[in-house]
Amino acid sequence: MKGGEFVVKDIESKDIAIPEEMSEEQRHMAEMVEQFVMNEILTDLAEIDKHNLDLLKGKLNQAAELGLLGVYAPEEYGGVNLDTKTVVAVADKMGGAGSAAVAFAAHVGIGSLPLIYYGTKEQKDKYLEKLATGEWIAAYCLTEPDAGSDAMSISTNATPSEDGKYYILNGSKIFITNGAIADLYTVFAKINKTDYAAFLVERSFEGVEIGREEEKMGIRGSSTTPVMFDSVKVPAENLLGKPGKGYKIAFSVLDEGRFLLSVAAIGGCKYAIRDAVQYANQRKQFKVPISQFGAIKEKLANMVTKVFMGESLNYRLADLYDQAISSLDPNDPEYYEKKQKAMEEFGTECSISKVFGSETLDYVVDEVVQIYGGYGFTCDYPAERYYRDARINRIFEGTNEINRYLIPGLMLKKSLKGELPLQQAAMKAFEKLITPSFDEVDDSVKFAKEKKLISDLKTLFLALSGMTVQKYMDKIKQEEEILFSLADIASYIFALESAVLRAEKAQGMVSEKKAPFYDAVVVTSAFEASTKIEEAAKKCAYYVGGDALQPILSGIRRFTRYDAYGLLEAKRKLADAVIEQEKYVF
Ligand SMILES: Cc1cc2nc3c(=O)[nH]c(=O)nc-3n(C[C@H](O)[C@H](O)[C@H](O)COP(=O)(O)OP(=O)(O)OC[C@H]3O[C@@H](n4cnc5c(N)ncnc54)[C@H](O)[C@@H]3O)c2cc1C
Repeated sequence: MKGGEFVVKDIESKDIAIPEEMSEEQRHMAEMVEQFVMNEILTDLAEIDKHNLDLLKGKLNQAAELGLLGVYAPEEYGGVNLDTKTVVAVADKMGGAGSAAVAFAAHVGIGSLPLIYYGTKEQKDKYLEKLATGEWIAAYCLTEPDAGSDAMSISTNATPSEDGKYYILNGSKIFITNGAIADLYTVFAKINKTDYAAFLVERSFEGVEIGREEEKMGIRGSSTTPVMFDSVKVPAENLLGKPGKGYKIAFSVLDEGRFLLSVAAIGGCKYAIRDAVQYANQRKQFKVPISQFGAIKEKLANMVTKVFMGESLNYRLADLYDQAISSLDPNDPEYYEKKQKAMEEFGTECSISKVFGSETLDYVVDEVVQIYGGYGFTCDYPAERYYRDARINRIFEGTNEINRYLIPGLMLKKSLKGELPLQQAAMKAFEKLITPSFDEVDDSVKFAKEKKLISDLKTLFLALSGMTVQKYMDKIKQEEEILFSLADIASYIFALESAVLRAEKAQGMVSEKKAPFYDAVVVTSAFEASTKIEEAAKKCAYYVGGDALQPILSGIRRFTRYDAYGLLEAKRKLADAVIEQEKYVF
């Protein structure tokens, strides 16, 4: 499977992996992490959030004892080197750990991955075991006061010493997660102000200075500081990768960080839903538990729907990663380089995952505060922390604007290179969109209606993107409003397709009691996606304008049409299950 291909290809349920297929070992791992979060982290989170960095470090050490800091590291360096789907099982449960989850993800993800993927044997021998076992903590230093989203414009400079033994590093980084607790920093800088490069910088090197902790809206227990470099002598052997290629390290590692962030965000939603429904079951107003009110049930159903879509797309993406790397030989000296390349293929899906996961979390925590009412606004209940902690996810690891830009941007780039047949498909799709037709669907075939919808939505995406490219040609890059509407259409297609195919594949795998929830979530997901896509498509059409606007608008109405018969029953079924089980039900 190629990245971005989902918009031009019919995908079947046998082509995707679903969480229901998790092995016993993966389930056991997930359970172990959940117990760790519940018993060791959440019990102390209030204290961690008072900025008790020693306590935070202690928790990271405990995670290390369980092998959780070495999920990506090879066994020879004390890691457990898990496949992506197992990492998903871990990150999903860690997602409930608030600020500790952020410290954890920064360490195992963007902090350690540059060394794992791009380090030489000598560099790994020196540092990797320390990171995998939690003896040292890692941080990733890219952002600068004047270089945030525009990460190519960093000004931290590395000047080679005359004897060639060192680089002299000068500059300032800002907002560095684990800043005050890290021992090893991957620092991005330009050699002689030109060649983008990455360096492994030890905290103990003279001239490394850690700035004041940021006072933050959320994830208060995590460390976020500036890190300054004042003529730091970095040994030449600590250059990571090749000079001039450091930006590749920065961006490719961020891709994986984004995915991890999304998985943790969706995992975090499940903890928040559990707390909210438990509260709703015991809180009485008008003499009944508030969970009995339709408005609250609808909130629960909507939350579960979005989480199901996010979870389905993330697991599918994890499997795409695993498949892409399955043919590689871990003993190949270029294994990690090839692995990174294989994963880069799915840049579009990764950005979809980041945006969908972080926005689902924000949606969920907002509704969770509402379910708690006034108590949700106080610090006595967890809803307030969920709300504050969630917000950062739309900002770091590439803002959601940058990721929305990348979603269609990467697809169009592939199309220009001839790697994705978007343009060819777009012409046909456009004809289809503006030609009235009334295809019948055989309603008796399970999910046939939803599959037809997905196919129509793909046609719609192709027609709109083709029309946009035709109008703007290479100036398309400046038309962000239009690109963002295309991003939303593509994201909801990927999410809906993942959800429907998952439900189809799960038939026969799940108990008779559970099966109806899958039928219900297909209806609620299809309704949600078709509604959101209709809005984005209309926006796109009005933005692009042109003579064919009216036929395009009626095409949009036809291609986003979804007869959501039984929508209310479907929502109530989901909500009642959540209320009965007091948790997310899938
Ligand atoms: C708590 C926290 C932890 C962090 N951890 C780390 C870390 O460990 N390591 C690290 O290197 N960095 C880290 N960051 C930095 C983070 O990645 C950046 O804040 C983020 O990339 C945005 O950069 P910025 O803050 O400079 O915002 P800006 O880039 O100035 O963006 C401001 C606004 O403009 C929008 N914008 C900018 N460019 C465009 C564009 N081309 N098109 C559309 N919209 C655009 C943005 O989306 C945003 O809405 C962290 C930040 C925080 C707050």
